Amino acid sequence: MVLVFAESPRGQFKKSAFEAVTYGKKVAELLGTTCVALCLGTTKDAGELGRYGASSVLNVADSTFDQFDSQAFAAAIVGVAKSNGATVVILGHTAIGKSIAGRVAVRLNAGLVSGVNSLPTINGNALRAKKSVFSGKAIAEYEITSAIKVLSLMGNAVKPEAMGSAVAVEEVSVGAANGRIRVKSVKTQEGIVPLPEAEIVVSAGRGMKGPENWGMVEEMASILGATTACSRPVADAHWRPHHEHVGQTGIAIRPNLYIAIGISGAIQHLAGVNNSKVIVVINKDAEAPFFKAADYGVVGDLFEVVPRFNEALKKFKAG
Ligand SMILES: Cc1cc2nc3c(=O)[nH]c(=O)nc-3n(C[C@H](O)[C@H](O)[C@H](O)COP(=O)(O)OP(=O)(O)OC[C@H]3O[C@@H](n4cnc5c(N)ncnc54)[C@H](O)[C@@H]3O)c2cc1C
Repeated sequence: MVLVFAESPRGQFKKSAFEAVTYGKKVAELLGTTCVALCLGTTKDAGELGRYGASSVLNVADSTFDQFDSQAFAAAIVGVAKSNGATVVILGHTAIGKSIAGRVAVRLNAGLVSGVNSLPTINGNALRAKKSVFSGKAIAEYEITSAIKVLSLMGNAVKPEAMGSAVAVEEVSVGAANGRIRVKSVKTQEGIVPLPEAEIVVSAGRGMKGPENWGMVEEMASILGATTACSRPVADAHWRPHHEHVGQTGIAIRPNLYIAIGISGAIQHLAGVNNSKVIVVINKDAEAPFFKAADYGVVGDLFEVVPRFNEALKKFKAG
């Protein structure tokens, strides 16, 4: 059986849960087995995971799992995997998935490939999975030969596919959550889609000259319903907050649309954004390396181009 951990922070599934279940269903088909989804904590509409290919959904509805605790979550996933005889465990390669995949693999004595980006191939008892390495410059293929295999799935690597119908949810118990961490309070930023989940990102770099000029970037983001990002020197100079920094040493993103304004396109920046579906670059230097990675480019002064771009977007939206 393939067990997929479907994350439901604050009781709601994120896109990564539907991606993981879609992927789990396809892996289960390759292995000739079933795909079972697991949710931890109070979860709304858990049965909906059936639409994405889960043949059944297990829910540990214990409210102690409403707050994330890596030890307790890993222990619960391992418990359910063992009691159901899972041979493959799949998690999303999200902040939560990354922090528990290693623990789960160790406790199951399983091989782990983190950040897989395509369907594996099966070779007897071995499973081969690919992931991108060296900042996206190469693809490595790993073979796992342990009895149980653990995979964490890179965001946007598969499209969630509705291929079934909702299924009944089976409540299961895993005993008391025994993590040593107690969450005392959680503060969430309302109204802004976090960068790893954003479908549209408007990002700007040192070409902006200073933080006082970011109004036009924020305006573009607000018209498009986008999340804002920046290059590393911009965050280092405190022009923008560090949580906006994307790239090799920042957040890796995979939006449908990435608009880069006044960013040169250094390899370390590209490492975090080159999996975007469509890249638009605005830069006054026609030789800027970013143009090589761009789907669309505007060579021009951003202080002229961006305000005109925003006016055109507003007209387009109004019309
Ligand atoms: C180990 C390491 C890790 C790193 N990690 C990261 C990372 O995670 N993320 C990251 O971003 N960087 C990272 N860097 C830094 C990276 O190498 C680049 O220095 C950085 O990305 C450059 O930022 P920038 O493009 O904003 O600035 P610049 O390189 O200064 O480029 C500014 C761009 O703006 C353009 N421009 C200027 N004025 C205008 C105008 N008026 N109109 C239009 N265009 C204009 C210029 O033509 C230029 O292309 C890392 C570096 C190292 C060594």
